[in-house]
Amino acid sequence: MGSLVDLNLCPDSSTPSTSAAATTTTDTVLRIPKLEPIDPSFQTYPPQQQLQLRELTQPTRDALFSDSTPVCSLDLQNAPPSQIPDQGSLDSEFHRIAEPTQNALFSDSTPVCSLDLQNAPPSQNPDQDSLDSEFHRVAELFRAAFAKRLQKYGDVEVVDPDSRAIVPVSSGQNAIAVPRSARKRAYPRSGELVRVADMSIKDQLLFRDGVRRTRMIYDVLRIQSVVEEDRRRGEDLGRRPRGDLRAASLMRDRGLWLNRDKRIVGSIPGVQVGDIFFFRMELCVVGLHGQLQAGIDYVPISQSSNGEPIATSVIVSGGYEDDEDAGDVIVYTGHGGRDSFSKQCEHQKLEGGNLAMERSMHYGIEVRVIRGFRYEGSIGNKVYVYDGLYKILDCWFDVGKSGFGVYKYKLLRIEGQPEMGSAILRFAQNLRTNLVATRPSGYLSLDISNRKENVAVLLFNDIDNDHEPLYYEYLVRTVFPPYAFNQTSNGPNGTGCDCVSGCTESSDSCACAMKNGGEFAYDQNGILLKGKSVIFECGPCCACPPSCRNRVTQKGLRNRLEVFRSRETGWGVRSLDLIQAGAFICEYTGVVLTREQAHIFTMNGDSLIYPNRFSERWVEWGDLSLIFSAYARPSYPSIPPLDFAMDVSRMRNVACYMSHSSSPNVLVQCVLYDHNNVMFPHLMLFAMENIPPLRELSLDYGVADEWTGKLAICN
Ligand SMILES: [Zn+2]
Ligand SMILES: [Zn+2]
Repeated sequence: MGSLVDLNLCPDSSTPSTSAAATTTTDTVLRIPKLEPIDPSFQTYPPQQQLQLRELTQPTRDALFSDSTPVCSLDLQNAPPSQIPDQGSLDSEFHRIAEPTQNALFSDSTPVCSLDLQNAPPSQNPDQDSLDSEFHRVAELFRAAFAKRLQKYGDVEVVDPDSRAIVPVSSGQNAIAVPRSARKRAYPRSGELVRVADMSIKDQLLFRDGVRRTRMIYDVLRIQSVVEEDRRRGEDLGRRPRGDLRAASLMRDRGLWLNRDKRIVGSIPGVQVGDIFFFRMELCVVGLHGQLQAGIDYVPISQSSNGEPIATSVIVSGGYEDDEDAGDVIVYTGHGGRDSFSKQCEHQKLEGGNLAMERSMHYGIEVRVIRGFRYEGSIGNKVYVYDGLYKILDCWFDVGKSGFGVYKYKLLRIEGQPEMGSAILRFAQNLRTNLVATRPSGYLSLDISNRKENVAVLLFNDIDNDHEPLYYEYLVRTVFPPYAFNQTSNGPNGTGCDCVSGCTESSDSCACAMKNGGEFAYDQNGILLKGKSVIFECGPCCACPPSCRNRVTQKGLRNRLEVFRSRETGWGVRSLDLIQAGAFICEYTGVVLTREQAHIFTMNGDSLIYPNRFSERWVEWGDLSLIFSAYARPSYPSIPPLDFAMDVSRMRNVACYMSHSSSPNVLVQCVLYDHNNVMFPHLMLFAMENIPPLRELSLDYGVADEWTGKLAICN
């Protein structure tokens, strides 16, 4: 057990200096709090339902605290608040996350390792026609290798790949309908204040992974809910369903919201400064800010151990005319006194959240600051970014611009924290509009793809003189052996579909939908709905237009990616754009080799990638086993184990510079579109979470077994 520091704040007799303090006798609900769009399903619940918490949460809930995590109790009195039902059972949930899979993730003593695959220079300079020559060189090797292999094993399926590519369609058994949330239940939050301090590195990673998984479930549910709803009632009919609310509701019913059993003061374990969220609801799910509408989150008087409300977080979204936001210093306006048009119409009172802010200042309790603002690339154009911890320095009553009295609080950002996420977002915005003026030095190339990609791929190094990525030819698409393209024609469009006016999964006649088990892998915006062992996109043999929903990865890059030099990871990759969870990023390209060829290449010291060594992270994207007890991993369509290597020693693309992480933000998904040979899928990379601009992208290259050092590259 770690150190338990009981701050034991006694009830304070000195009343706030302002006269309105007399209103603290009741837990006043402010008439007009700082408002965001309202959802009736998340309003208060009848108190008689509040005792159901334990039975609902016990089996599946991941308690967020390990036994060894030091927790500072902030109980304002020694006695726990009597108003909270079933306090004992809440305490009993305060145990270590015991999921075997999560523990397994942390068995590695170095969770984040540098891939460092760039230090080996190419063994020869690329020539102009290297793509062609490479192609023929490999083709020759293939012929030789496979001639032997076929004689030896009679492995003729390889020659006729389509015979294995398409099998009769299953009855859609993988499609799990997202159910509607059960009846409304009560989920009270604890009023017990704690501060988590001095976590070990291992615990930090554990919590980070817990938050990561929670957010992944949230995003997948949110995306799938909308698609399910569209399927149910046909597309483009009426108002779009609110997937953000459905997802949160389902997770709450299953006890998957984090940090409900303690009120955390200060940092939320597993949430990093700079993390971004698209929905207010998601802030509630991870416990960063528990109010769906109010700008100030606080422990109310009714739950407070000493009868005083305590503020824990605020949302700064520029909606109050008297707010002043200078980044590190904020003058934050209290809430209340506004009409339904957000116009100040009466004096604010020192009650509710306003009083809680004053009390937090009095006790020296820091608040989390989340900024909300419009941002390009976000869903619904708004983004919430966690900007870290602030101290409340001052509180005063002032006359606002409207002429009515408002409470003001001076907030100062605590030093020693990572750079503010909102500042990084704005910097990235400036880079996108005026790259060189924003960063006058450090760019070695404004497009290492030489216009081969739709979007320029930047090369940045402001650390040393290494120019290495310039020495490789940029390979936009993986080079497969010629026989991978041998198509067996079984119709006027080969193995493609005949959907001249575009593909729909509701139609039984779309061959491509059938190949995917009767459902497309992407939503209308090209977001991956769930990971599968392979995805069949529409291709050159299909009659559908380029705008078909089943064409995503074949269209190439959409985000401005940057290869950059990092002291921690050597070369790395980041995006200037905000990348949404489930979005396609890029292909991992190389020149495909068989095992036999790979053996020869290895003797030359060439850099090879073995795709079967990538961890199967696609399994996690769409894993709803914590939501549905009958959830089964998608097993259709399936492909044989990947049995090829890729040479990246002369030609490569941006993906080759991605770092390794055992807690990655990017996954590998196999995709077929230009041929149907399941032996040779494209390796397509998708975001596993919302990735802020300028945050490093990372892949799980798998565990190094017989090699040492370099994880994915065999030398
Ligand atoms: Zn199509
Ligand atoms: Zn098609």
